[in-house]
Amino acid sequence: MSNGSKTKNSDPSSVRKPLSTAMVLIFSALLAAGALYIAGAWDSAMRDQSKEAMELAEAAEAGILEVDPSLIAGIDRGELPAGYDVLKDKLAYLVRLDNEIRFAYILYMDQGNIYIAADSEPQSSPGYSPPGQPYYEANPVYYSAFSGDSTIVTPPVRDRWGHWVSVLVPVKSPDTGKTIALFGVDFPAENWPERAMSRAVEAGLTVASVLLVVLVLHIIAYRNAQLRRERNKLLESEERLQASEKMFRTIFDQVRMGVALVHNDRFMSPVFGDFPTVNPRFLEILGQKIDDLVGLKWETITHPDDLAADLEQFALFKSGQIPGYSMEKRFLKPDGTWAWVNMTISPLYLSTGTDAVHLCVIEDIRHRKVMEQTLKDSERSKAILLDNLPGMAYRCRYDRDWTMEFVSQGCKELTGYDPESLLYNRDLSFNDMITPEYQQSLWEGWERVLAVHEKFQEEYQLITADGTRKWVWEQGQGVYDESGKLVALEGMILDIDDRKKQELQLRYVNNHDGLTGLYNRHYFQELFDRDAVRGGRLAVILINIRKFSLVNTAYGYAYGDRLVLELAEKLQALITPDQILCHISIDRFVLYVKSGADRGQLEALCSQIVMILEESLAHRILGASVGAVEVIEAGCDADTVIKNAAIAASEVAADENFGYRFYDGSMAEAVVRESVLRNELAAEAYGGTLQRLELVYQPIAAVSDSSVIGFEALARFHSHQYGAVQPTEFIPIAEETQLIVPLGRMLLREACLAIRRFSEECHKPLSISVNVSAVQLLRDDFIPELLEILRETGADPGCLGLELTETGFASTFDEMNRRFREIRNAGIKLYIDDFGIGYSSLAREGELNVDYLKIDKFFIDKLMEWDPTKFITQDIISMAHKMGHIVVAEGVEHPRQQELLKEFGCDLFQGYLFSKPVPPAEAVAFLNKCQ
Ligand code: C2E
Ligand code: CA
Ligand code: CA
Repeated sequence: MSNGSKTKNSDPSSVRKPLSTAMVLIFSALLAAGALYIAGAWDSAMRDQSKEAMELAEAAEAGILEVDPSLIAGIDRGELPAGYDVLKDKLAYLVRLDNEIRFAYILYMDQGNIYIAADSEPQSSPGYSPPGQPYYEANPVYYSAFSGDSTIVTPPVRDRWGHWVSVLVPVKSPDTGKTIALFGVDFPAENWPERAMSRAVEAGLTVASVLLVVLVLHIIAYRNAQLRRERNKLLESEERLQASEKMFRTIFDQVRMGVALVHNDRFMSPVFGDFPTVNPRFLEILGQKIDDLVGLKWETITHPDDLAADLEQFALFKSGQIPGYSMEKRFLKPDGTWAWVNMTISPLYLSTGTDAVHLCVIEDIRHRKVMEQTLKDSERSKAILLDNLPGMAYRCRYDRDWTMEFVSQGCKELTGYDPESLLYNRDLSFNDMITPEYQQSLWEGWERVLAVHEKFQEEYQLITADGTRKWVWEQGQGVYDESGKLVALEGMILDIDDRKKQELQLRYVNNHDGLTGLYNRHYFQELFDRDAVRGGRLAVILINIRKFSLVNTAYGYAYGDRLVLELAEKLQALITPDQILCHISIDRFVLYVKSGADRGQLEALCSQIVMILEESLAHRILGASVGAVEVIEAGCDADTVIKNAAIAASEVAADENFGYRFYDGSMAEAVVRESVLRNELAAEAYGGTLQRLELVYQPIAAVSDSSVIGFEALARFHSHQYGAVQPTEFIPIAEETQLIVPLGRMLLREACLAIRRFSEECHKPLSISVNVSAVQLLRDDFIPELLEILRETGADPGCLGLELTETGFASTFDEMNRRFREIRNAGIKLYIDDFGIGYSSLAREGELNVDYLKIDKFFIDKLMEWDPTKFITQDIISMAHKMGHIVVAEGVEHPRQQELLKEFGCDLFQGYLFSKPVPPAEAVAFLNKCQ
């Protein structure tokens, strides 16, 4: 209401000024009209005077009557004709009469000039003009008066006699009717303005009174209008007052707030003036009846816990220190329960001037209190839960600081910082804690998951209070309001430092070679397979050290390790950052070239590698071959690439100590061949009997006299598709596929049968040694099966020998040795095959439970060179003897070799020099021939 009236008052158009613009205009118009009226009064006064003068002059002219034309003519001639005196008397008489006329005269005109005929002045007067005297004062008015018919009043003129107005009356000839003279009278004009002025003043007074009347009327009208407006306003505000009172009562009765008037410390009587003091809602909230409430002290129904605060506030309020107060408090309801309210006490400004009455407004907050309590309970249990969880729970804003709004107690243990120091970035922001390399990626990670409303999960490092880095794992998610707007992020951060370090360590171990620290085969495979999916030009270069175990044999492991390390360093120094050097087995490196190098660049690289190899290895007993594979099509796997590289490397001729080859498609035929052989071998194994597989026998003779002491049984395979296949090709396939187990069993059985047949035919026991793969020997059922075959075939165990290569048992030395003992206990002989090229060394050879030691062809070949390394062969022989082994030399092709072996004291030998491996029939014939 007050607002409405204020608006009205402030409306400038409604302000009534005593003199409006319209009034000013009216007044101005009245003033102008007044001025005109005054001027008119002046004019009419002047006009009246001249009319009067004219009438007087005309009357006087009638008195003079006719003027004889002859009289005029006589005067003109300079005579004084009869009648002149009469005329002069008449004129004088006219002046003497009591009127305004001061001069009277007759003028005539002759030949355009005006002359005086007679005047009223006596001859003695200084103003006298003799008849016929020119009238000097004549002006154009006089001339026009002669020509016209009417009387003329001249404007006032000043002359030597004073200030005059002349009235000129034309005098006509009675005969002709023509103007023959002018009768003029002069009136003194001095009085005229005075009279006009008095008339003007009269007029001015009239105007002033009119203006005054108009002004007074206007003021009255204005006052009237004002009074009317005020009356209307009063009426209006009364209406409004009634309306607002009605509204107030409606609100008072229906508002959801409880309203009561309180007289200091008591509730008041039900009505105060015309108004009720308590509204229904107040009674409802307090569960009270109006009669019970009247006069009740509010203290008595206030909860004891709330009372002190209430009284304190009330005292401050009463003393005027605070304008009012609000508080949450409890009132006792008659049913004994408590009503939770939010109470506001404010002063009530009454016209009665009392300040003892206050307004008490209460709001029922029972539900809110229940909810608050529930919330508090759940918050408490959440806090307990969060504080006891491992790690740190948080709620933060989605900003670059990750401004924390909640941080659980776990923060201290996780980061070393108090939770409070993080809250709202008090001492530092959470972002400050994240290691710099993760700050951007975490931001981007959150961006990604929030865009699709998913969970965020990340492992990263924090810098803890003591400055150390710590691995943590975070899981979190966005919190959204009802409208779907992101309001916060919530989640957990856990300490995974130990696990992560172990994992990294493990990953390192998993991915690196223990000796060189280079990536290992496992890592290469993963890396290559990942890259190969994407495609692009890749290349793999395999570096294969030949017969590396010889180094171990000759110089020991430490020396071998040093050699590999040295080579690794040199190769590492050669490569560029986009090339990765891996150490995939003790004698093999793989150089992985990622950036699409062309054939020319790769060839240059291979040449450099070969140079390094030559430089590092040539003065030792080793050679090395390099195989390179270019991968242009996507989807090639690491295994195939390594195999192809190995195929290419194997293409480097044996007599070419150092060299490289590039893998080409035709080499892939080997892969096809391998799979065909694999299938054929499988068919043979599951056929149960030897069909395509057979044994050939190479005699073993004494070095001293070349007498045959036995045979080595060597397997041959007749492929359906490829014809004769050498064991160097099919044995590795059989080993790889485990087909060697059934096939080996069949071959062993065949050899045992041969022992019996040969012995029977030659009538003496003959030994046959059979090659056995580590794959076979490592099986727990190998020895029982072996014994079973001997029993079944009836072969003499003392005639059976088993040849084993060192490679297979280097890592399971003790286990192998235990089996060897068991085999030897059964009377079977044991041979260490290919001695010198496996993972073994002379130092441990003595501990082996074996009978024979077969020196690899490599050392026998050395005997033909003029090289000091041939003495290694001699050393091997003498050491093997010291350990109680019988020494067999393999691959003896030249008599010179036999001579040297004899010289070195070698026991037995076999080789093309004596005999190639031969079919069983030939072997028997051979025996018979030798006997
Ligand atoms: P190994 O046990 O070292 O056999 C000796 C190899 O040298 C045989 O090749 C033999 O033919 C060959 N050889 C003998 N004297 C000379 C010579 O003066 N000059 C040359 N250049 N070579 C000579 P083979 O028969 O091709 O056998 C190759 C390898 O296959 C064997 O090497 C053996 O490790 C394996 N092998 C052969 N038969 C069997 C078998 O029945 N079972 C198993 N597990 N492996 C077998
Ligand atoms: Ca052998
Ligand atoms: Ca051998």
